Amino acid sequence: LSSGGAIKSGKYKVDEIKYPKYTGKKEKATFVTLARNSDLYSLLPAIKSVEDRFNHKFQYDWVFLNDEEFTEEFQRVTTSMVSGKTKYGLIPKEQWTFPPHIDKEKAAETRNQMKEDGIIYGDSIPYRFMCRYESGLFYRHPLMEDYDWYWRVEPDIKLYCDIDYDVFKFMKDYYKKYAFTFSIKEYVGTIKTLWDTTKEFMTAHPEHLAKNNMLDFISDDDGDTYNLCHFWSNFEIASLDLWRSKAYSDYFDWLDQAGGFFYERWGDAPVHSIAAALFLDRSEIHHFDSMGYYHPPFHQCPVDEDVRLNHKCDCNPKDDFTWKSYSCTTKFYTVNGMTKPKGWHLHAG
Ligand code: GDP
Ligand code: MN
Repeated sequence: LSSGGAIKSGKYKVDEIKYPKYTGKKEKATFVTLARNSDLYSLLPAIKSVEDRFNHKFQYDWVFLNDEEFTEEFQRVTTSMVSGKTKYGLIPKEQWTFPPHIDKEKAAETRNQMKEDGIIYGDSIPYRFMCRYESGLFYRHPLMEDYDWYWRVEPDIKLYCDIDYDVFKFMKDYYKKYAFTFSIKEYVGTIKTLWDTTKEFMTAHPEHLAKNNMLDFISDDDGDTYNLCHFWSNFEIASLDLWRSKAYSDYFDWLDQAGGFFYERWGDAPVHSIAAALFLDRSEIHHFDSMGYYHPPFHQCPVDEDVRLNHKCDCNPKDDFTWKSYSCTTKFYTVNGMTKPKGWHLHAG
């Protein structure tokens, strides 16, 4: 990063990245975890892993959000685990319920149908509140106002490799706004009208589309249909300004009015991914290829042995999902003209 601002958005290749040196100066960044009190003991190993692999070196804060008050126990135990400051927020009731315009009977019909169809979380009300909250509301919580960047962490995740540099400084220095580990295809049954609703939005608000967007990652026919590719949002390192933008507020409101969080089961992952792909310059989206990561049932394990040894990764490259055919990450590299890591093809299939 000695080049002192010479790197402009869209003007560099990923191969040219030099990771930032630690200067002792922190970014305005925080971890954020939405959780129930009952998630405490599946969350602890996740926090411990993030602390051991990264955060004990940087001591970023950690914001916990819940639709109920966190218990004393939850707060005591998590605070003991986090090297930075911990903050505990209650989600306002009106953000964790059906919005007034939603027809609850129609929503109940969907849940019954999805239950019959065996769609995962298809009959769950809280899961829908969660998806809507993660899509359009978490970044508006007063506790998030202090920050420019966040890293989302969920229960049961694990980091497999040491991260020796400040990922938030990396995001800032390289003009990144959204970063992911996994990409995958969505269950079509959960988002039947999401793309049509998005197309209507694009027609109504062409001013929000980035010139050099990444439509070719999410559509194989120039926007006619959605190819179901999305970044898996249980891991996100991103700019809060992306979601605070006029483009995203307008988009979220549009989707919310259409009602698909309840009449279907729109996930925050496809919603965030479509928004990132349409509203950002493609160079602002980043894949953390050397970050070993696990969220059940998938593993990202760097396939290049040099990377694994240099970062003390404790994962089996045979389990890597990143370059498999049902991942979308190969497409991400292809549409952006990026070089895939050494040996990736040995793990495709
Ligand atoms: P999955 O990864 O899609 O299977 O969903 P998870 O069960 O991991 O839920 C996603 C995130 O939302 C996790 O951080 C959960 O702890 C959190 N979460 C899910 N449901 C609720 C809920 O009803 N209340 C709260 N407070 N958090 C929830
Ligand atoms: Mn999860």
